[in-house]
Amino acid sequence: MANTNGQGYELTEHMFDVVVVGAGGAGLRATLGMAEQGLRTACITKVFPTRSHTVAAQGGIAASLQNMTPDSWHWHMYDTVKGSDWLGDNDAMEYLAREAPAAVYELEHYGVPFSRTENGKIYQRPFGGHMQNFGEGPPVQRTCAAADRTGHAILHTLYGQSLRHNAQFFIEYFAIDLLMDDDGVCTGVVAWNLDDGTIHVFRAKMVVLATGGYGRAYFSATSAHTCTGDGHGMIARAGLPLQDMEFVQFHPTGIYGAGTLITEGARGEGGYLVNSEGERFMERYAPSAKDLASRDVVSRCMTMEIREGRGVGKEKDHIFLHLDHLDPAVLAERLPGISESAKIFAGVDVTRDPIPVLPTVHYNMGGIPTNYHGEVLNPTKDDPDRIQPGLMAVGEAGCASVHGANRLGSNSLIDLVVFGRAAAIKAGEVVDRNSDVPPVPQACFDRIMDRFDRRRHADGSIPTATLRDKMQRAMQRDAAVFRTQETLEAGCRSMDEIYKELADVRTTDRSMIWNSDLVETLELDNLADCAMLTVYGGEARKESRGAHAREDFPDRDDKKWRIHTLAWIGKDGKVTLDYRPVRTETLTTEEEGGIELAKIAPKKRVY
Ligand SMILES: Cc1cc2nc3c(=O)[nH]c(=O)nc-3n(C[C@H](O)[C@H](O)[C@H](O)COP(=O)(O)OP(=O)(O)OC[C@H]3O[C@@H](n4cnc5c(N)ncnc54)[C@H](O)[C@@H]3O)c2cc1C
Repeated sequence: MANTNGQGYELTEHMFDVVVVGAGGAGLRATLGMAEQGLRTACITKVFPTRSHTVAAQGGIAASLQNMTPDSWHWHMYDTVKGSDWLGDNDAMEYLAREAPAAVYELEHYGVPFSRTENGKIYQRPFGGHMQNFGEGPPVQRTCAAADRTGHAILHTLYGQSLRHNAQFFIEYFAIDLLMDDDGVCTGVVAWNLDDGTIHVFRAKMVVLATGGYGRAYFSATSAHTCTGDGHGMIARAGLPLQDMEFVQFHPTGIYGAGTLITEGARGEGGYLVNSEGERFMERYAPSAKDLASRDVVSRCMTMEIREGRGVGKEKDHIFLHLDHLDPAVLAERLPGISESAKIFAGVDVTRDPIPVLPTVHYNMGGIPTNYHGEVLNPTKDDPDRIQPGLMAVGEAGCASVHGANRLGSNSLIDLVVFGRAAAIKAGEVVDRNSDVPPVPQACFDRIMDRFDRRRHADGSIPTATLRDKMQRAMQRDAAVFRTQETLEAGCRSMDEIYKELADVRTTDRSMIWNSDLVETLELDNLADCAMLTVYGGEARKESRGAHAREDFPDRDDKKWRIHTLAWIGKDGKVTLDYRPVRTETLTTEEEGGIELAKIAPKKRVY
């Protein structure tokens, strides 16, 4: 094929049944499942697969194995529904909880080196919001762990398995945009080989976005610098909506100053938070779950303690996490990674001193709307579940929605493998192996290369890093743990201005080989779309639910707001919002062994 714009880029064309963009836990599990079924599968990734952010996941992966305490998938589903503050979709949450044990055993058989109990079973630890007996308690031990390096173990295992099934990897290729034909069908993706500067056109019958979250829209985040919402940006530019973007999770225990994560598993193993008066304040706010209440709750309590003058440190602006009362042998065996992080990033020996911590941006509940098979949705008023042909999304980039307004710890890793697998099963059904791979929609391709070329030669007055910093600070300030009409409106105004300034960005490097300046500019375009939809969605939602805590609307309003936000952004930066109903039906009835519907009806959320 030719690049008819005359920009002179060297092009290579590929044809596959399926192209997966992303090689984190979700992308690798999808890739493996596709390849296993004999679909010709490519996996494109901008970083080496085992450097994806999944590698940093510490605490573990939730599944009701019952190795250490009684448990059932019904309890897991209940906790997930409650954790989501009743914004998750019941069919997807049932699928997650029900499939979780099999998915973990599958990982075990693939070779994940889980920690073990004395009798050789997979070790499980308590995690926030996971309880026994439909929330009645006590805490359940549901989170399966490989010490505090669970994501690392999973990612390496899945990469090895994917290679075994002959999936073809395109490593250090940056996906720029989706190829969409005139009927709105996705027919492939265009990517840039960072290593040799060539442009690659991937034609495919199905594209799976597994590009992870967009934590880097904020100033202080636990996520890798590569978590820039690239899949979200591609969806937004294709004129499709993103869902529930206002729900951003703050993790209670990022290391003060550095933002590095201290896993919730640290509190699962017995760690606790104290204020400047040495008080274990969580006992006051959440008498039953205490330090193991869900993340949105603990983050808000910490923020309130600091606001009321009971923060620790010179500036009284953070909180202490104590692990020094725990047996050093337990710390060495179960939490070696975070003991090291505390030493490196806070200069603290966890066997002696508390770790200074602060709520830090950690996870994006919102993302690309999908059904529980991973198929991307392009809802209309008449058909809120309309499927967008040729496209799937899994992992943190997707929104099935199993996390609703707030994700429970250890429910993401299980989401990656359950829905990565579900997408592969569905693709096996809908992708016709004998049909021709669709042609390249030339007009769309030309538009993609035009934008790329404009970014490469951008000669405005603002360096990318300067504008990115401005956006990150605005988001940190105006779309924080607590929000008001005033802060959110200020956020919309700041983001509008920053969005306009994108036209005036300057890239200094014009080369095509390892041009990190250009990569960061393309990433900034994606982050800015995410940031816009986050703050606009938050401004419009006049209630508090899960991670979206409004001081001016402190209560949840199920009558009006138990609905998913859909958000589009135009080329001019104009945001359009609409809504779609939450899916309340379950997959199985109580008679079929499913959960009793009355059990998961909305009620007040207390821990
Ligand atoms: C520090 C930390 C600890 C965590 N601990 C836990 C935990 O213990 N338990 C739990 O359940 N969850 C945990 N989470 C959350 C969980 O790890 C993530 O949500 C999850 O790993 C995301 O996986 P993913 O496959 O969706 O994306 P990622 O692992 O982020 O991978 C994204 C992939 O997309 C590729 N990509 C992105 N953009 C492009 C592009 N333009 N072109 C080509 N490739 C692209 C990247 O190269 C990468 O391969 C943690 C998160 C963090 C940050």
